[in-house]
Amino acid sequence: METLTEINLADEVATRALGAKLAVKLRAGDAVALEGNLGAGKTTLARGLIQALLGKDEPVPSPTFTLVQTYTQGDGKPAVWHFDLYRLSHPDELVEIGWEEALADAIALVEWPERAGDALPESALWVELLEQGDGRTAHLIGNDEWRKRLQDWIA
Ligand code: ADP
Ligand code: MG
Repeated sequence: METLTEINLADEVATRALGAKLAVKLRAGDAVALEGNLGAGKTTLARGLIQALLGKDEPVPSPTFTLVQTYTQGDGKPAVWHFDLYRLSHPDELVEIGWEEALADAIALVEWPERAGDALPESALWVELLEQGDGRTAHLIGNDEWRKRLQDWIA
């Protein structure tokens, strides 16, 4: 796991655009860990990603209270499971919110991924969002497989 690239996100539009760009790279079985403080832009990125797949009118509420929201795509394309684990008390609770199913054959987007403990796959792509002045910086961290997959738009 190493930092693959660092991307400046001047405003919310840029965060959503990064989500949209990532959307086309994802396949069934992928996990994307969205890390960052409260207000860092995790949900914003997930929203850009999901709306790129499902259309810009798709409502993408924050799963703060529900812990997970699921989105199905037609045409045999994978479902997207958007988790927010902030309110998870223990990784044991993941089984109740469909974690295994999400990782098996869907795309899992995970806010507060550190709360999943060991349940988060090692193959996950990490997107770390940091506040930078009025904007944000994103660090993309992943294994060689991610480096290959993202090579056309990382330096
Ligand atoms: P989180 O899910 O990490 O708590 P949100 O996605 O809810 O954060 O975003 C919090 C706020 O940050 C929103 O008001 C959003 O518009 C804003 N925001 C997102 N990306 C950026 C950015 N690149 N620069 C400035 N503000 C941003
Ligand atoms: Mg959020």
